Order: sequence, then structure tokens, then C-alpha cells
Amino acid sequence: MYDLVLKGKFLTGGKLIEGSIGVSDGKILRVSTGELKGEETIQIGRGKVILPGLIDVHVHLRDFDQRKKETVETGTMAAVHGGITTVFDMPNTQPPVLDVKTFERRKALFERTAYADYALSFLIRNNCGDAVKAGADFYKIFMGASTGGVFSEDFEGDYSCAPGIVSVHAEDTEIIAQNPERPPEAEIRAIKRALNAAEKLRKPLNICHVSTADGIWAILQRNLPWVSFEVTPHHLFLTRKDFEGNPLLKVYPPLRDEKHRRALWENFSRIPLIASDHAPHTPEDKESGAAGIPGLETEVALLLDAVNRGMLELSDIVEKMHTNPVKIFGIMNKGLEVGKDADFTVVDLKREWTVKPDDFYTKAKWSPWEGRKLKGKVVITLLRGRIVMEEDEILEKPQGVRINAGKGSA
Ligand SMILES: [Zn+2]
Repeated sequence: MYDLVLKGKFLTGGKLIEGSIGVSDGKILRVSTGELKGEETIQIGRGKVILPGLIDVHVHLRDFDQRKKETVETGTMAAVHGGITTVFDMPNTQPPVLDVKTFERRKALFERTAYADYALSFLIRNNCGDAVKAGADFYKIFMGASTGGVFSEDFEGDYSCAPGIVSVHAEDTEIIAQNPERPPEAEIRAIKRALNAAEKLRKPLNICHVSTADGIWAILQRNLPWVSFEVTPHHLFLTRKDFEGNPLLKVYPPLRDEKHRRALWENFSRIPLIASDHAPHTPEDKESGAAGIPGLETEVALLLDAVNRGMLELSDIVEKMHTNPVKIFGIMNKGLEVGKDADFTVVDLKREWTVKPDDFYTKAKWSPWEGRKLKGKVVITLLRGRIVMEEDEILEKPQGVRINAGKGSA
């Protein structure tokens, strides 16, 4: 007898099957095509599919001195609302996570207030000694200035001494300084430099939010097995034209011309990770030029809508937001397998709804997709065997825990 049995359609090995998942003590104990008995049974109805809990490897949850923009509490509520069961927190906070003391403070904050499970990061800039002491789940390096302004002056040195997998924001400092609009060359040059270092050092590197045709081509051509990369939904679905019509869409790296967007889709099957780069700001900060778009509560729905339009498969979402994040970042306790955490994202592919930022849990109550009608919605989120979100309502208290990360293999 299991604590909980989840019955319905689920994806396994790329195929949709009807069956039951037996859960006890928050772990998956059995995945079966037959009937299982549980103290509690949740029957997932027709038209809905049980996906493994989706993971967003790139979110900015602010907090600390920027509680007006977002807190760990509101940001992780937004995550479970959007169907994300694990978030990777970025360290360019105010103050930034550059030392052990700030890392410990961040850790304590997540332990108290996170609604989703989480990975903790550490910002590297000539401080590898502290990075080793902190022992984060992943490390972040900015090659050029972004929100927070802290960037590495010696990328190769910082990357070579990082004690684990590095996520890099690749935009070239010099080009940015001369061209504040951040042309494609800023990203392309930085990506090439990062690839050169990766080829030489042969250690795990994840290139964040790739947005240019030449950028993605360079990565794919080099094809280094220890290098992964992310693409955001906004770079997949929006272009510079959208930004020209709406200054709120300022983001780093910026929205690009159609040819870049097309290149991302042409290589869609080879994109390892989709991540939101959720970057909440207040309306006042946006007005004074802050870069970033909130994304946690729209990303999965946008991808489901695209499934309905024949642009991708449901299994692509699982691959890029569950299977690959688990593999690349070496997450030991996640995966749709016996013994792993019972995290699930239940989606209704047929549900039609309209994006209303007023209904968001993030403090950034605006969206590039405001008013957009989407077909496909996250209806239930389960974290370690408990329903934490159902039909837009957050049901439990914060109970997110830190992931069990290996070293990451990219
Ligand atoms: Zn970011």
C-alpha cells in the first residue's frame, strides 16, 4: 500500500502511457501500467498528462535588499504556479552572493521561505577560495555587466578554478561598453571565447540564454560534450519588433531579429535546456531602464501552446526542462524513476486561458504575453508527493528543499 497513487496518462521513454505511479514518503516507489493501491488516490482526468516535475535552471528571485522586486517566497510561489518544481537561483542579488556569509544567508532564506525545491549558486569573480568553502550547487560567471553590475575580469581564470559546473552569461564587456544596445556580436564574441576556454579546460560549462544564430551555430559546431546551453521562451517567441513596440521587453541579451529567432527553431532539437531567466522588476525600475522579463508563470504554458500548434512535442518539454537539467547539473534526487522525488507537473493540453498578470504570484505583475490566449495550462503541481498547487491556488506552506547535486557533468 502506497501513501499516494497517481493515476492517469504519463510520459515515459517519450511515449504516453496510461498507468499508476505509487508514492511513499515523498519518493516514487513504482511506475506501473497496471493498478496500484494507495491510502490516497488522485485520478488525473481525461485530456490531462502527468509530466515529471519541471526544472528551471535560470531564475532571479531577488530578495535581500530588493524585496520590492521579488522575494524567494513570491518567486517560488510563481514557480509552482507555473508548473516548476525546482528552481536554480541566480547569485547577482543585492548584495551579490560573492562570499560565504552571504551564501549562508541565502541558504537560510530558502530553507525558511521556498515553495519549490531549489539549487543554490555562487557568483565567481576572483574569489574561488570562498567558492570552495561555500559549496554551492552551481556557479555563475558574468563575462560582461548585467543586472547587479558584477562581472569577471578574467573569465578563463575564474572558470578554471570554479569548484563545479559554471553557468556563464556570455556578452562581451568591451562591445557592450561601446554599444549599450548589445548587438549580436557582443554575444557571439563572448560565446566563442567561452568555447575556447571550455575546449582547453574540459570542464562543465553551461552557456545561458543563447539568442543569436551565430552563437548557437558556434556551440553546435564545436560540439563539446561538457558544454550545454539554455534558450529562453522570450527569445524563442519574440523578436526585436516586439521590443520596439513595447519598451518593457528590454532584456539582456536583447530580443533579436527574426533571422536569429528562426535559427533557434531550426536547431530546436539540439537545444539542451529551456529556462525562463525569470527577472522580475518593479514598474518604476523598468521605466528607468532595468533589463529583464518575468517568465516563471508563462513558460510552460507557452510551450504547451506551441505543442498544440505543432511546433514541438510534449516530450521536448520533458527533455529540456527535466531530463537534461537532471543530467547536466547532476541532480541525484530527481527523475521519473523509482527512488527519486515524487515531483510532478500535471498539464491540461486542451485548456484555453488568457494571460492575466494580475493573477500572477510574482511581484512583477506584467508580462509580454498579457492578454494572449493560450491553449495548454499547468493545472496541478506536486512536490515530493504533495499537491502544492491546484487550479491556480497554492495549497501548502513553504516546504522546498535544496537539491542533492553532484558535480555536474554538462
Ligand atoms: Zn539571468
